[in-house]
Amino acid sequence: MLLLSGPNMGGNELKYVSECIETGWVSSVGSYVDQFEKMSAAFAGTQYAVATSSGTTALHICLVLMGIEAGEYVIAPNITFIATLNAIKYTGANPILIDTHPGSWQMDLDLLENFLTEETEQREGVCYYKKDGRRIRVIMPVHVLGNIGDMDRLLALAQQHNITVIEDSTEALGSYYKGKHAGSFGLMGTFSYNGNKIITTGGGGMIVTDNEALAKKAKHLTTQAKSDSFEYVHDEIGYNYRLVNVAAAMGVAQMEQLSGFIRRKHEIIRFYKDALSGIGDIGFQEVSADVTPNWWLPTISTERQKAVLKLLNENKMQSRPFWVPMNQLRMFSNDRYVSLNDRSNHVYQHCLSIPCSTNITDAELEAVANKIKEAF
Ligand SMILES: *Cc1c(COP(=O)(O)O)cnc(C)c1O
Repeated sequence: MLLLSGPNMGGNELKYVSECIETGWVSSVGSYVDQFEKMSAAFAGTQYAVATSSGTTALHICLVLMGIEAGEYVIAPNITFIATLNAIKYTGANPILIDTHPGSWQMDLDLLENFLTEETEQREGVCYYKKDGRRIRVIMPVHVLGNIGDMDRLLALAQQHNITVIEDSTEALGSYYKGKHAGSFGLMGTFSYNGNKIITTGGGGMIVTDNEALAKKAKHLTTQAKSDSFEYVHDEIGYNYRLVNVAAAMGVAQMEQLSGFIRRKHEIIRFYKDALSGIGDIGFQEVSADVTPNWWLPTISTERQKAVLKLLNENKMQSRPFWVPMNQLRMFSNDRYVSLNDRSNHVYQHCLSIPCSTNITDAELEAVANKIKEAF
């Protein structure tokens, strides 16, 4: 089976992991954790980085750090992976879901602006949802597939309305907006190292921020809020959300290869665009001139989505539709969904992601493109 987006372990992974095993430094502390954090902060252009057990736990901790209370609101896109919404729900907050932009597949900022203008009010520097008078605390843009929306506009809207921006930049390691790295725009940003992401530690995540107090607090909360280096004294309810050293060792080896992986993702999308543009109604994600995406997961849009999905998967070329839109899931069906013609559903019915592991060969790319053409 040709994987959709599989791991590429061609560097020092085995060497560094072996070193952890030989020295016994496999668990929750170790020099690779520190090194991985330093490399991640340097890459993202932030002052601090705190490693976590997953992207989901990174998102959860960011929201815990905001002191969000049950019944408050977090604004999020309706097209995202479930982890964004799960992290919100863990805090007891509810999402306000914003429909997608039909071309970029990012949160639609016209709809966001309309919502903020019509349905919220400001009192003493706090944003309230008019309908029930509860606070709206955070906007969580998701850089869907490594693309980035208009961050200048989003940050301005957030500031006007006294809402904090926390980026779900888990798909956007190696993506830039006006030369600035994803995850460095909000108060905090996050990365994921799940097996299908552009680099992987098997499972893992990272919080990046320029705020020293938040970084320290994130470290504290992810390590059971232990407040004494010797005794088991804990000063609040903490979490065991650490990244283990053996996973961080993989992360360091993967970071060493990241620029090559990004280069390969760019070659892959270039290949697919050349091979498939003009075939039937095939379309690609729209990217603004301000954005250099990492092209993490090349995805096409077509009326023949189901036929292409069937043909590729039958031929052992793994491909997947977009996520089921969040408003269509039972858990979120009662949450506010700010929509224009339910574009999320249109995108869901038309898009599919195609094989793009960084170690895919040119011959395999050719074979995938030819198979897709067969469906037309
Ligand atoms: C991958 C991903 C996450 C985090 O996933 P983990 O598997 O917990 O690392 C969060 N949000 C989005 C949009 C993602 O794609």
